[in-house]
Amino acid sequence: CGIVGYVGSAKSVEVLLGGLRRLEYRGYDSAGIAVIDPEGAMHTRKRAGKLKMLIDDLDGRALANGSTGIGHTRWATHGGPTDQNAHPHLGDNGKLALIHNGIIENFAELKRELIEQHPDTVFTSETDSEVAAFLVGFEYQETHDLALALRNVVARLHGAFTLLVLHTDGPGVVVGARRNSPLVIGLGDGENFLGSDVAAFVEHTHRAVEIGQDQIVSIRAESVTITDFDGNPVDSHEFEIAWDA
Ligand code: GLU
Repeated sequence: CGIVGYVGSAKSVEVLLGGLRRLEYRGYDSAGIAVIDPEGAMHTRKRAGKLKMLIDDLDGRALANGSTGIGHTRWATHGGPTDQNAHPHLGDNGKLALIHNGIIENFAELKRELIEQHPDTVFTSETDSEVAAFLVGFEYQETHDLALALRNVVARLHGAFTLLVLHTDGPGVVVGARRNSPLVIGLGDGENFLGSDVAAFVEHTHRAVEIGQDQIVSIRAESVTITDFDGNPVDSHEFEIAWDA
């Protein structure tokens, strides 16, 4: 339902929770975050219920000081609103985390194929989204290129999706893809943001770039790269958010 991504030098947990709070108006039934810590380890927390449930769960725990992360509020379509079905979902043996807005219509077929090819895969949720997390993880094991892995997977997905992924091998990058579901970049100074709408980052920057249909974006602290689903570079247009945060 709501998506936020961050790469920079701030504590990403705070940026992510602030973004999710500003996306609450869209409605949601669960929330979760994934952050890569300075040592390169993945940390995830996810809870059914209000954002407060997630924040209480973070409280008192040494969640990483990581400055790369993704956050999600879920509006369940496949699988009930439980902790397990909340996003992020993990792939590549817990080294990859993925969040998803929308519906993957052919997930049942993809899941059957995945189980045939990788019978050891243990699904921990009933969501369509977890299938994408495992698929991107297996593609990454082949390609060692997160943007390429995501491109190879989105080519096989039907439906509506905004996907964000991060991997412990690339602690300073978040990769996103979109089809029939929105995704916007927020341009900062030594930091960059992704959001399902500008509310996710408007308190940090008013400079934004809309991501077009069937495009892939990689954000790093100092750069933003956008391609189409075939990997060709695409033109982008920066705009000013006319909104007082
Ligand atoms: N289809 C996914 C799920 O049920 C994502 C729903 C959403 O957009 O929040 O988990």
